[in-house]
Amino acid sequence: MTGTPTRVLVLNSGSSSVKYQLLDMADGNRLAVGLVERIGEETSRLAHTPLQGGGGEKREKNGPIPDHAAALKAVAEELASDGVGLDSPELAAIGHRVVHGGLRFTAPTVIDDEVLAEIERLVPVAPLHNPANLTGIRTAMSLRPDLPQVAVFDTAFHTTMPESAARYAIDVATADEYRIRRYGFHGTSHAYVSRETAKLLGKAPEEVNVIVLHLGNGASASAVAGGRCVDTSMGLTPLEGLVMGTRSGDIDPAVTFHLKRVAGMSADEIDALLNKKSGLVGLCGDNDMREIRRRVDEGDPAAALAFDIYIHRLKKYIGAYYAVLGRVDAVVFTAGVGENAAPVREAAIAGLEELGLAVDADLNAVRSDEARIISPDYARVAVAVVPTDEELEIARQSFALVQSSASSNE
Ligand code: AMP
Repeated sequence: MTGTPTRVLVLNSGSSSVKYQLLDMADGNRLAVGLVERIGEETSRLAHTPLQGGGGEKREKNGPIPDHAAALKAVAEELASDGVGLDSPELAAIGHRVVHGGLRFTAPTVIDDEVLAEIERLVPVAPLHNPANLTGIRTAMSLRPDLPQVAVFDTAFHTTMPESAARYAIDVATADEYRIRRYGFHGTSHAYVSRETAKLLGKAPEEVNVIVLHLGNGASASAVAGGRCVDTSMGLTPLEGLVMGTRSGDIDPAVTFHLKRVAGMSADEIDALLNKKSGLVGLCGDNDMREIRRRVDEGDPAAALAFDIYIHRLKKYIGAYYAVLGRVDAVVFTAGVGENAAPVREAAIAGLEELGLAVDADLNAVRSDEARIISPDYARVAVAVVPTDEELEIARQSFALVQSSASSNE
């Protein structure tokens, strides 16, 4: 054993999956990454890749894994067989991604019974995510009850939004009774990417104003002023805002009563329509941007329209957040689409020269895992691509918290 424990296991527990990474915060290196999927089905699968010391072969196990407890036990066995088991004294904490922290959780939090009860209390506003996150936490607590378990909330970074951005213009008493307000999501990514962008510009986070475009299968934009989020595009739920893979993003709420009254659809059916059968998939049948671009290049009109609607919405948010921030130092693209789809970046920035925004075609075409600037030297505002790393951010926040609690107890 090497003295102070420095490893953090990061768990992202979904309803039927657990993604995990083991990191060593002494150097930020990853020791293992993996995924358990289709938990509760006959066809469960565990894929584990050891990474320490140059890395090893990916190992896969197929066969039924009945629940999250069995999934975590299987993960623990894989880690143990690499010599980095959960019983190791070098493990400092387990960091959990928790989707909804409401207004209460503005920072990473060491989990105790009271914190568990509060995450449970937020289930009505995150019915798909918080129950799965709770299951993962409870299972990890039963495996290592002695270890600090830290919750890192997707909503926390957005709790700095002013009331003018966070409130919907609806009856205040109703909003307060049902906790209806804009919470925002992907906060861990927006926090990490805005900070890394400041680093890329050679400045402190406090010195820069950044528009972050997190474009993955889910997508959200945020306006970050001096390191603090002042607006974000997702709201009460992750449905609001940009056009996404399967979600509509912004829509006139009257569409929902219209569908109820005219089409006789139930609330659940409308929910499924807007969350699962809309967005790019609803517009053209595909949600993978690679496939959509291939179809656009072949002259497919449905794919071309889907792409145009996606870009139009993105441009509206860039303009809106420019106005919210007043001065912008960088517009930054991240996540699967943002990091990889050069045509999306080019189209989203096209025509915004008057705002000081431009993309250099050669720089934009470069494929890289590194954070990079893709605007020409003359552009007043930097356009950048910064790969997101939510697991590293969760590990960093969890480790910083346990270290500060340890030093305050000394
Ligand atoms: P994420 O949710 O961040 O994992 O992003 C997933 C999405 O990224 C996929 O649905 C694709 O649309 C998109 N994506 C991944 N790789 C590429 C690529 N090379 N070009 C365009 N889009 C990509």
